[in-house]
Amino acid sequence: MKLAVFSTKQYTKYFMDEANKHYKHSITYFEPRLTEETVGLAAGFEAICPFVNDKLNGQVLDKLADNGTRLIALRSAGFNNVDVERAIDRGMTIARVPAYSPNSVAEHTIALIMTLNRKVCRAFTRVREGNFALDGLLGFDVFTKTVGIVGTGKIGALVAKILLGFGCEVIAHDMNINQELADMGVQYESMDDLFARSDIITLHCPLTRNTYHMINPDTLARMKDGVMLINTSRGALIDTSAVIESLKSGKLGYLGLDVYEEEENLFFEDLSNQVIQDDVFARLLWFPNVIVTGHLAFFTINALRNISETTLENVSCYERRGTCANLVTMDLIRKQPMPVG
Ligand code: NAD
Repeated sequence: MKLAVFSTKQYTKYFMDEANKHYKHSITYFEPRLTEETVGLAAGFEAICPFVNDKLNGQVLDKLADNGTRLIALRSAGFNNVDVERAIDRGMTIARVPAYSPNSVAEHTIALIMTLNRKVCRAFTRVREGNFALDGLLGFDVFTKTVGIVGTGKIGALVAKILLGFGCEVIAHDMNINQELADMGVQYESMDDLFARSDIITLHCPLTRNTYHMINPDTLARMKDGVMLINTSRGALIDTSAVIESLKSGKLGYLGLDVYEEEENLFFEDLSNQVIQDDVFARLLWFPNVIVTGHLAFFTINALRNISETTLENVSCYERRGTCANLVTMDLIRKQPMPVG
């Protein structure tokens, strides 16, 4: 099938080409993000393959449909960047990669917790400059700390299991209780109790209308003083201006982000020779107790192999049968209220 891949990086092409030795689709790679300005590139491609920061709004979807696109093969699990209702109305099929390596994201979450706590980045920089002083590098034992996990789906469940291994008290909030976790000692709590009791809070729920800015001035006020907040899920779960105020007041003791609500104009690009125009983001980088990574929690060899395999399998299935196992349907949307953005 003729497939247009957007937001292509060298690693995208490498892993897609590897997987395509088996599937033999006709793939054209485009570096730009898919937006209103670039949608013309998709003309004549029955299938397109976007990534997380490609913008499939009504205008883009109308243009795609008019130009003959029938399949949107997302190479991500999340679909908050797609107006699903419009795509389906316009007769397009949407497929995704529901799970490619939840371990990759869970392990990166732990990396953020430990790097923030033990100040690994600051310590490394100091040692390179011949500064071996320890002042300002004091950490705490994670053992016996209370960790609150918001969303115990595939990733949140793995984070819970790893932290149980650290000897943490793990509490969670999710409308679906994971019985295996409950049997292992994870306590399910209301969101209010989770915010009030946790020393570390980590977000693993999807971005929906209900979860947009779930971390805001009101919920921050209900947290413990000096709490650590981690977000490897989606940027807009957090009201960034509110967390900046909490960092300035000391209410928030540590912040670890792999995602940012305005990341689409920043992440995945080398902007090292440019002046960052996003003042809110720039402010975040100046706190000594904040770590930001550029949406790379998923970025392991295992995950990239699985993403490429499943994406091309979805395309092949659609080509053979007009459908596939990993569809984004209105049923899925009804179960998860309409995603934002
Ligand atoms: P999942 O669907 O397996 O789990 C999500 C869980 O969140 C479900 O159990 C659901 O019931 C729960 N949930 C929904 N709304 C909630 C709410 N209001 N409060 C508490 N829980 C709620 O998803 P997953 O595979 O574990 O992924 C979690 C998120 O991680 C995804 O939505 C995606 O945004 C993000 N993600 C990030 C990266 C990255 O590279 N940073 C990679 C993959 C996924």
